[in-house]
Formats: sequence, C-alpha cells, structure tokens
Amino acid sequence: MVLRRGICFHVQLASEGLSTNHLQDLAGGPRDPEESNAHRLQRIRKKFQRVVRRELDSRSRVDPVARMRHKLGRYALSGLPGITAPRCVRSLQILETAVSPRVAAAVLRTLWNGWTTSHRFQGSETCVLRCSEWAQDKLEHYAVCPCIRKFGRTFLNLQRGPANCQLGQFIALGLNDAKVADEELVRRAIWVYSAYRAVMEVSHNGYGSQEEVQDMLKQFAREAVRGHSTSTAILDGCFVNWNSHSITAFEASLDEWQEDI
Ligand SMILES: [Zn+2]
Repeated sequence: MVLRRGICFHVQLASEGLSTNHLQDLAGGPRDPEESNAHRLQRIRKKFQRVVRRELDSRSRVDPVARMRHKLGRYALSGLPGITAPRCVRSLQILETAVSPRVAAAVLRTLWNGWTTSHRFQGSETCVLRCSEWAQDKLEHYAVCPCIRKFGRTFLNLQRGPANCQLGQFIALGLNDAKVADEELVRRAIWVYSAYRAVMEVSHNGYGSQEEVQDMLKQFAREAVRGHSTSTAILDGCFVNWNSHSITAFEASLDEWQEDI
C-alpha cells in the first residue's frame, strides 16, 4: 500500500514536470562542501513536503486574464485583446456583488462560448427566435439578433451602438471598446442573462410568437433580479429613464428591428 502510494506520488510529480532529485535540491538549498550528508539529508526531510506543495501550487495556478484572453480569441471583437481581457475579469468581480450569481454565471458562459447552440455542435439550425430564415442558431448571431436587441432597447434602455460594436456589446458587455459604468454593466448583464434563458427555453420547449418571445425575455429579466436589491433597483431605474426618453420605446424598437433585419 505504502509502495503503491509512493509510486502514485512520483507519477503525479512527473506529470507536473517535477523530479524528486530536483525537489531534493530545492529542499536542501545551496551545497556546502563542509556539510555532512546526514545533516543535509535531515534538512531535505524537514523541508521536502513544503517545497513539493509550493512547486505544485505554482504549476496549478491559473492566470485568469490569460485564460480570458484565450477564450475571447475565438470572437472577432473590436478593441485590443490585452485590454479587453483584464476588463472582463474585473467586470466579473464587480458582477459578483452587483447581480445575482445566476446572472454572473450567464455572463461568464457567454464570454466563454458556453451556449448550447446547434452551431456549437456542428449543426446548421436557424435562429430559434425565428428573426429570419437565414440567421444561424449561433451565439454570434444572438448577439445581434433583432429580437434580443429590440428587448434590450425597449425594456433595458440599452442604446444601439454602431454595427461593428454590436457583437462586443453582447459578448463582452462592450468592454472591448470602452470602460462601462457599473450601472450600465448590470443592465447589459441582465440583457445577456435574459437572452440566454429565452434561447434555451425556446430551444427545448418550442417557439410561440414574436410577442411571446418579448414577454418571455421581460419575464427572465425580472427573474434575473429577483431577491437581489442592487440589480432590482437598476432594473427599476430603466423604466424611469425609459419614460423620459424623447422618442417612445416602441418607435425606437421598430427602427432597430428594420435596421437589424
Ligand atoms: Zn435571431
């Protein structure tokens, strides 16, 4: 049993690129010609476990910014990847308290291409929200899908950005193009969460009508903030801003719908 454990231990160290000789050298420190072998061995025994733990920890530590940059690399986002990645990591830290965990999880799932669309599994289905017969069931499409953008505009008061910024507005909450204020970040996170829930819901349970899709998105936005005071206040604030707009939300959404299609 002890022998088997010892073999497993050596195999684990080898898989991490660590040899016992190297670890013993680290534990023993610089060699002193006048030091006896027994004394050096005693020091190695004393420090060996600590050195192994330190070396294993240093190898298993993940750099979150590098990981984020790698994950975002699949999207053709505008902006500089070296700036976008740390901003996204920082935004997730802000969202930890600014929204409920389910909303933050949806944002991370979107950043990391975690939606179970047909395109992700090499399929070629069309947009489940049926915005057009050419649109693919693909995360990059949902970022610009007129149904989802209409909801963002009319219910969350999200402003329409230039066409080349729309992908990033959804996938990376717009952090690829500029810093985003916390309140705006929360509204975009609610938007992403609602879209994710609606697409998954329609994928599994079928499509009704465009009106039902809009109602469903609104319902998921309310669920996004349920039981969370900060994001509830921000969602309520959307309606205040919305009412003071110079054009009605309905007019804006029609305009957006026509342009997006
Ligand atoms: Zn669509």
